[in-house]
Amino acid sequence: METIETYKVNLRDMQQDTYSCEYVLNDEFFKSINAPDIRKGSMHVHLDVRKSAGGFILCFHTWGQVTVPCDRCLDDLELYVDTTNTLKVKFGAEFSDEEEVVTIPEEGYIDIAWFLYEFIVLSLPMQRMHEQGKCNADMMHVLNRHSYHENDNISSSQETEEIDPRWSELKKILDNN
Ligand SMILES: [Zn+2]
Repeated sequence: METIETYKVNLRDMQQDTYSCEYVLNDEFFKSINAPDIRKGSMHVHLDVRKSAGGFILCFHTWGQVTVPCDRCLDDLELYVDTTNTLKVKFGAEFSDEEEVVTIPEEGYIDIAWFLYEFIVLSLPMQRMHEQGKCNADMMHVLNRHSYHENDNISSSQETEEIDPRWSELKKILDNN
């Protein structure tokens, strides 16, 4: 099982000018960092580290699949991710990640777990929804009923407009009987 220790990259002890490694991010990873937006995931990460003047450049290629809640029905929604990101890192007195440069203390390692999470989340679309008509129908029914109750005081004509056309067809049939 992966532990968060796995995601500490030791830059101080880097023997060569370049260094590469691979990571796998699974459900355990997203659980262990308490990822607020991601329920599950199966991701690969390729990291290239390069020494540069005054620091290091870390290039990440991150790809795979994550499961997030659908904005409309709250059910699981699977999204594909393929993102490349770069981090500049230098040694300094204390940790900071301002001005696009991450400063890490002299112990010399950077914990990339949270950065990986942020790269993934930033690559996701703002609106995360199933395709039209692909939402969990049971869930939508419950959510719609709930929102109609909340809007009890709106005029009935407005309410009719918001009803799913299939329901209004059904209502017509019932009204005619
Ligand atoms: Zn949905």
